[in-house]
Amino acid sequence: MTNGIFFLCVFAAKTGRKGLSHSGAHDRFPSMEKMKRTHACGELSLSQTEKEVILNGWVHRLRDYGGITFINLRDRSGVVQAVVESDAPAALRERAASLKFEYCVAVRGTVRARPESMRNPEMKTGDLEVKVFDLEILSTCETLPFMIDGESEAKEDARLRYRYLDLRTSAMQDRIRLRHETAFAAREYLVGRGFYEIETPTFIRSTPEGARDFLVPSRVQPGKFYALPQSPQLYKQLLMVSGFERYFQIARCYRDEDSRGDRQPEFTQIDLEMSFVSREDVFEVTEGMMRHIFKKVMKSDLAVPFRRLPYDEAMSRYGSDKPDLRFGLELKDFGAPAAKSDFQVFKTVLAAKGLVKALVAPGCGEYSRKQITDLEETAKTYGAKGLAWMKVTKEGRLEGGVAKFFEKIAAEVVADLAAKPGDLLLFVADKPRTACVALGAVRTRLGADLKLAKPGDFLFAWIVDFPLFEYNEEEKRWDPAHHLFSMPQEKYLDMLESDPGSVKADLYDLVCNGVELASGSIRIHDPKLQARVFAVIGITMAEAERRFGFLLEAFKYGPPPHGGIGIGFDRFITLLVGVATIREVIAFPKNTVGASAMDDCPSSVDEKQLKDLRLMVIEEEK
Ligand code: ASP
Repeated sequence: MTNGIFFLCVFAAKTGRKGLSHSGAHDRFPSMEKMKRTHACGELSLSQTEKEVILNGWVHRLRDYGGITFINLRDRSGVVQAVVESDAPAALRERAASLKFEYCVAVRGTVRARPESMRNPEMKTGDLEVKVFDLEILSTCETLPFMIDGESEAKEDARLRYRYLDLRTSAMQDRIRLRHETAFAAREYLVGRGFYEIETPTFIRSTPEGARDFLVPSRVQPGKFYALPQSPQLYKQLLMVSGFERYFQIARCYRDEDSRGDRQPEFTQIDLEMSFVSREDVFEVTEGMMRHIFKKVMKSDLAVPFRRLPYDEAMSRYGSDKPDLRFGLELKDFGAPAAKSDFQVFKTVLAAKGLVKALVAPGCGEYSRKQITDLEETAKTYGAKGLAWMKVTKEGRLEGGVAKFFEKIAAEVVADLAAKPGDLLLFVADKPRTACVALGAVRTRLGADLKLAKPGDFLFAWIVDFPLFEYNEEEKRWDPAHHLFSMPQEKYLDMLESDPGSVKADLYDLVCNGVELASGSIRIHDPKLQARVFAVIGITMAEAERRFGFLLEAFKYGPPPHGGIGIGFDRFITLLVGVATIREVIAFPKNTVGASAMDDCPSSVDEKQLKDLRLMVIEEEK
């Protein structure tokens, strides 16, 4: 980049303005004064026939047929064909002949119907064209690194390096427009429901919420740091203390996590918080907002209220806290038949208070050994030691895998699992959570392989009654399942210290099609209860004071009961658009290792900058 700019400066200095002209067909870029557009390319119709129009845009496609130049001119609204005919004045024809892809141009001409045989039904403006009698080149374009088309076929590296060009493709234009429309619809709905849009700071005190904070060194106070917020969590709670009652923000959040899967170091969240509410109020507003967004953006009717599924049930039936509910394929408890079988492996697991979970893969009885091994690999990735299997033959007998251990109770097994001839039966026996999660992953995989979910369907559900704490095996301590400020449900208050693992919280997730879209909770607003939760997690009052003292202090001054939710905006758009990664719906994303190839960041900084901040970079020891 730097080189390019440097080159241009030198070039311009040597040759003056003329030097910027590419072909010599024009010696200056004209001002917009006389060529300001009167219409948008994609919005022209035959009703403008005979009208004189001025269009501004980019040369999308270019064809020259013996002196006639066809220019497909594109702006944000779409594409229209402009024609410079062979009888046009020589200067105009010459200028048209000098055009190249993605030159930025202005044309003046008249709208006319295309001859019947030349109409293009694929194009919105395919019935008409603009006969050009004036053409100005507003700027030229160098040889493109890739073609600007519908869906770019260039490698992602190149697309991100030249993102400003990639964003010109119609696929990216559509995605970014849909993102904009969604943000607008969310705002429109929330404002209509009495929410204030309030900005919270991006430089805050470092109060890690689960991930690592990004830090910003202070020059004025050397050795001190701001942090970038992982979410506006504490500030939105403070806004409730301040009496704003209903807050929202389309907020940027920052988490310094290792690059893994589909993550971005910065992402966007529709963040909201409400006072004097129970979880049902948060659900009702979120459902209303989703319905409004679907109506405005997707032009469809989203049924509300969404289904509610307790966490325990979701884990037991689907082996996931974000199940794809577009298909059934439920996990079943196989404890009773397993106990009656001759299969010692299952019996040992049951004796150790584990679970045997079963899944019926419909019509997969013909699966090859390799296909079954692939499914087993999926189960193993999620902690299972193996995946047991057997097939139901056409005659309804059990065959293959572990079938021999179930010979005596074959009929019972088939009936218990409601299995049909030609089905494949799959089992994981393990600790309860592992058995569910591992077989749940197999369920997800089968759902995709068998194409069980109808594309274009959106099935939302609330997962409710999450545990308040999760046990951290490595650190041998309880961690908050969400964040530190979620409210334990009243009926579990007595067990907070004695049995933390069984405490359910007023904590909820919104899921859709197997994707976790949002998390939220009713918050603790009682400092004494907050202190008890800190104690279970092992945070001393002194540490709590140091990290969140300002929030705890605010809670001494009449905090209202409150709760809210944060909706992952990028992920939501990814789901609406139906693309594989959130990078496809962010204008300028980082790549999979958190870098931007376009502006080459993160980058080194000048010695002077480091000195001003009194920072030193220590080279990693090899
Ligand atoms: N701050 C939470 C999050 O980022 C959302 C919430 O509880 O409102 O997940």
